Amino acid sequence: MTARVLGPIGVDVERGPALLSAIDAGPSLAAHRSRHGEPGRPQLTPLLADLERVGLRGRGGAGFPFGRKLEATAEASGRPYVVVNLSEGEPASCKDAALALTAPHLVLDGAVVAARVLGSREVHLVVPGTDLQVRAAIETALRERPDERIGFVVHRADEAFVAGQATAVIELMAGRPNKPVTSWQPAAVRGHRGRPTLLSNGETFAQLAILVLHGVDAYLAHGTPEEPGTALLTIHDDLGRRVVEVPFGTKWEAVLAQDGVDRPVLLGGYHGTWADAGELRDLTVSRAGLGAVDLTLGAGVVLVPDGCPLTFATSITSYLAGESAGRCGPCRNGLPELARALERVTSGIAGLAETERLCGLVERRGACAHPDGTARMVRSVLTRFHGEVERHARGGCSYRRDRIGRSA
Ligand code: SF4
Repeated sequence: MTARVLGPIGVDVERGPALLSAIDAGPSLAAHRSRHGEPGRPQLTPLLADLERVGLRGRGGAGFPFGRKLEATAEASGRPYVVVNLSEGEPASCKDAALALTAPHLVLDGAVVAARVLGSREVHLVVPGTDLQVRAAIETALRERPDERIGFVVHRADEAFVAGQATAVIELMAGRPNKPVTSWQPAAVRGHRGRPTLLSNGETFAQLAILVLHGVDAYLAHGTPEEPGTALLTIHDDLGRRVVEVPFGTKWEAVLAQDGVDRPVLLGGYHGTWADAGELRDLTVSRAGLGAVDLTLGAGVVLVPDGCPLTFATSITSYLAGESAGRCGPCRNGLPELARALERVTSGIAGLAETERLCGLVERRGACAHPDGTARMVRSVLTRFHGEVERHARGGCSYRRDRIGRSA
């Protein structure tokens, strides 16, 4: 029951209970309508009530309540725009690409529902500029819907970690460099062309579509009473790279391959947080449950490295340092310094003090969340793997690749 998506993203997409329930039938509009039907024309007030009942939160990482964003957009003055962000600047994430390739009409239905509710005439779709497959899939799906009374505009995002941030997307749509800028008002109030803009990622719109197409009760049938519904995860483990849809409340043991829960896991992607080996054994896929132990689900990226978490975190930090948009000093200068300091810790030639000082220097100093996210991941690996840091300081490592047992 796995649909293999070929081409540049080379990822397995497994059939799931809701969003990915029809992928075996292909991405056509006919297959989509056969499984999900027509979305109808919900009104704003009952839709907001439904969104409140199911507690839908944005799936781009921040987890902001989607109903509140929709309401703020509706209340702001001016005719709103709807923006579907499928760009996924995070290189480890490919859930929105998987949606575009296997269920594009679910994303488009969600966008059309939002546009109708808000009285928008334009839906903008931001696709990864280098992934021609995703762009082609969206353009093919749009050609199947010639009768929509809504204009669709496709934009190609840069291949950069910060290109998918909300302000960077608004800049791209305005024809300026696809980089984050300081913004004093959220896009819902003042976004594209200074008008209210409902901007969210592809999965969020697909979740909205599932809610409208199948109703609240069907939505509540998955997940837990506290966290209804499902989540898309991009998992990198011994089974390779795959996108799965799991109901909230699913045990991590059932999600990860083999001994995944007994190994260090980076949850939430490159800006995420580290779980120690075994820590996920008693936890479930739950924002609240993970948050209670200082872990984050973020945009659903789950990385199970086959090796040392300190080394892995060091290479991610070096990558993130190179992804600064170069506009804010603490980010432009601080992140490379932070990467070098962490490298010295991992090499066992320096203690933690300099790395912790640099984390404090870059936090809350950028125009966007890039420095904060990077510092969060670094702090997390140092906190969770303090024993490993000490082992490296003595010239050892528990995860040497010659792993005949794990010892320093
Ligand atoms: S914090 Fe960094 S990535 Fe964000 S806008 Fe400033 S320089 Fe660019």
